[in-house]
Amino acid sequence: MKNKWGMMKKRLLLVLGSLLLAGLGVVLYLKLEGTGPAVSMEGLDAAVRAAHDLRLNVSDPESGIRSVNISLVQGEKTAVLFEESYPAINFIVGGEVFDKSLAVTIEPKKQGLSDGDALLRLIANDYSWRNWWQGNRTVIERPVRIDFRPPRVEVLSRQHNINQGGAGLVVYKLSEACPEHGVQVGDNFFQGYALAGDPEGRLACLFALDYRQGKGTEVFLSAKDSAGNQSKAGFYHHIRAKKFKKDLIRLSDGFLARKMPEFEYSLSGTPPATPVDKFLSVNQDLRRANAEAFQKMTRDSEGTLYWTGPFLRLPNAARKANFADHREYQYQGKTIDRQVHVGIDLASLAHAPVPAGNSGKVIFTGPVGIYGETVAIDHGLGLFSTYSHLSSIQVEAGQMVSRGDIIGNTGATGLAGGDHLHYGMLVGGVFVNPVEWWDPAWIQNNITLKLNAAE
Ligand SMILES: [Zn+2]
Repeated sequence: MKNKWGMMKKRLLLVLGSLLLAGLGVVLYLKLEGTGPAVSMEGLDAAVRAAHDLRLNVSDPESGIRSVNISLVQGEKTAVLFEESYPAINFIVGGEVFDKSLAVTIEPKKQGLSDGDALLRLIANDYSWRNWWQGNRTVIERPVRIDFRPPRVEVLSRQHNINQGGAGLVVYKLSEACPEHGVQVGDNFFQGYALAGDPEGRLACLFALDYRQGKGTEVFLSAKDSAGNQSKAGFYHHIRAKKFKKDLIRLSDGFLARKMPEFEYSLSGTPPATPVDKFLSVNQDLRRANAEAFQKMTRDSEGTLYWTGPFLRLPNAARKANFADHREYQYQGKTIDRQVHVGIDLASLAHAPVPAGNSGKVIFTGPVGIYGETVAIDHGLGLFSTYSHLSSIQVEAGQMVSRGDIIGNTGATGLAGGDHLHYGMLVGGVFVNPVEWWDPAWIQNNITLKLNAAE
């Protein structure tokens, strides 16, 4: 009996002992986990100028977060941006903060840092028993460039004479690579481009003066570096004011009866009651929507100068309407509308073949409301030509064309009274006078010579 009890006691102790050891093992295994706090960071840019917000998340689901320290290090200088310690429930259980979202502001000037390279350093510890109860440590370092200096703009081309409703080209250099640079003309900004393959690293910007922008319009170069430092630089320019022609268009019942059914599908809302109301809706609302469509399709351009020399116009054609003609529309002797014609109308034989004005990439083919069947070509650097009222189209979007390639035939699609070509040109989404681009002397003085400008 006594022996039996002794045996049982021994066994019990053995079992209890093993359980205790196993338990201790599990506790040690858990308490000695070797994963440091996980860190995610958002909003850190490569270059920083002014106050800059950083969003961080630190998490340690196993042992809890012990402390977080974030600093900016530049040479000997360490600016502490954030420092916090978190409590533990007790020594055995560990931390009570497992997930922490932080917002930290970098203010280089306030924090006494200067222009140049710096390092953002984050150190986070947890409540693991590892490293003799010091915990696991996560260290994250990210390079940051402190940049207070605005880019330097050097204008290389001179004497920019710009016609109201016309274009100009400025060639310049920047002291550092800038994600944003170009010419501001009143409310319009024209993006500049790096001249591809240029050994001097020059940049060029085609810009335009809208036909509504006259003398006194503000024109300057602007550049913003990746830290957000901005420079503005004026350059010599002379604005030539232009007087545009007036044109009277008498609307006949025959024209309205012939043309209006074509636009039935493109009018939204309640259909206008009379042919004249229908015409007004087409000439105003649809025209505005079409202008927006042209702006949208010409927003992005290739950074390659695809073309050289003057643009081709429609051969053997008579000019029927000028750029920025101020049109007055009359019906039964009464003025019912006024619009501005933002292209040139050229008439040749019916269904005359239409050559591409210059080399480039076809970016659009199809109907554009009052403009009818249209082809748009991107010539690079923000310059586009458009061909409207076509009866047929022989190219496709994405196709490269050379100067003189036949892209379609003239017609009277859209709001055209008779067979003609509406030739449009845009610079950075602004309609400009095509006449400049057809003129060899203008191209020579305003494009070629400017592109040759060097230091
Ligand atoms: Zn036209």
